[in-house]
Parts: sequence; structure tokens; C-alpha cells
Amino acid sequence: METSPRAQDLVCIDLHRRGSLEDLCRLQLALVEGMDLSVHMDSDEVEDIEVAGVVFFERETGRWMVEFDHKEIRDVPRTQTAWEQAFPCFQCRNDLTEQIQRDGLSLGDVCSNCGFAIHHPIMPPGAR
Ligand SMILES: [Zn+2]
Repeated sequence: METSPRAQDLVCIDLHRRGSLEDLCRLQLALVEGMDLSVHMDSDEVEDIEVAGVVFFERETGRWMVEFDHKEIRDVPRTQTAWEQAFPCFQCRNDLTEQIQRDGLSLGDVCSNCGFAIHHPIMPPGAR
């Protein structure tokens, strides 16, 4: 977590993490500036933390961030299914888990089933 570049009393996190990309693909949600987004983060064995924030794109670093008030972070029970869920292709819903285990995951990679960009939900504004 870092101080938001837009407001000193808010914090933000980078959404360029595999967990965020997986969540966005599951939800078929592509990031848009100003959208509300609920994020989950690992906390410990039994609890995760959850917070609702607002998405923005930081042009200097080319990163999507979600900005929120750290006082609004809540502990939520860890859902077992979160670990068992697949990593579905944003477009065709093919499970990408095996492909990523075999080939890794780099920017520009596409679904081996339909050819759709795996990073579609986190592409910069205007790039999709
Ligand atoms: Zn696909």
C-alpha cells in the first residue's frame, strides 16, 4: 500500500498483480477510470481483507491503481473456494491455469483457445 498520488489522506494499491487479473477475468470486468472496485487481499490463514475503492490509471508509471481510505478496510472470512477457482479467459472462459503453469504469463500473451489478450482487463485506457 502506498499513499495515493491524488490525495494525501488516501492510500492505493497497484492492480498489476496476478490475483487482481484473475479476479477481473472471473468477473469479466475491464478496468475503467473512475469505476468502483471491491478488492480482496490476503491477510492471514483465516481472514482476508476487503475494501471498496475507486480505480484510476497512473500515467507516469502506466499502472492501474485502486484508491481507498485505509479506515474502510474490513476483515472478511477467507473463502476456501477462492483458492480453487480457475483462471478463465476473459472472452471464451477457457481455463488458463494449465497454459500459464506451462508457459508462464507475460504481457502480450493470449488465450491458446481463442487468441484473446489475457491482460485485456488491465490494458491502458484507449488500448483495448
Ligand atoms: Zn479464450
